[in-house]
Amino acid sequence: MKASGFVHGDPPALDRAGRAFLVLAASDCELARKAVRHWMADASELGRDAAALYDPTPGRAAEAVAALRAGSRILVAGPAAEAMAYTAAARQAGVLPCELITYVTSTVTLTVFCPHCETTQRADARPGDRISCAGCGISLEIRPHLSSHHGTYLGAVA
Ligand SMILES: [Zn+2]
Repeated sequence: MKASGFVHGDPPALDRAGRAFLVLAASDCELARKAVRHWMADASELGRDAAALYDPTPGRAAEAVAALRAGSRILVAGPAAEAMAYTAAARQAGVLPCELITYVTSTVTLTVFCPHCETTQRADARPGDRISCAGCGISLEIRPHLSSHHGTYLGAVA
């Protein structure tokens, strides 16, 4: 998981090579707020600019990303569904995978894409679990592969 920039467990450390930091976080998650406080303190210790944006819409996230200067790093923190949405928004705004770290605080609720009918739904499940597609009703196995572009897990017809 580390190579793809998705981190579970303890909050990841700031990339000290970053020249400025933008944090996109879910406000209703205590672990995410804790990670943000941690990152802001580290950034100020490094003498770097850092800004945190709570519960950004894709539009707000894209604006904030567009305003960054070269060498900035993006940090995302929140439960899986929110973290994936902010990650997808940042990626669609042009952020490269190496500039982005996504801290997934919990994977209780995640977003699953059905390749059969192209419905995206939220599910209280983990990769490897089976769910019924809300769109077409077929049984889907949630693949461990996460699409950072779409911000969803892919369901495979089981
Ligand atoms: Zn379906």
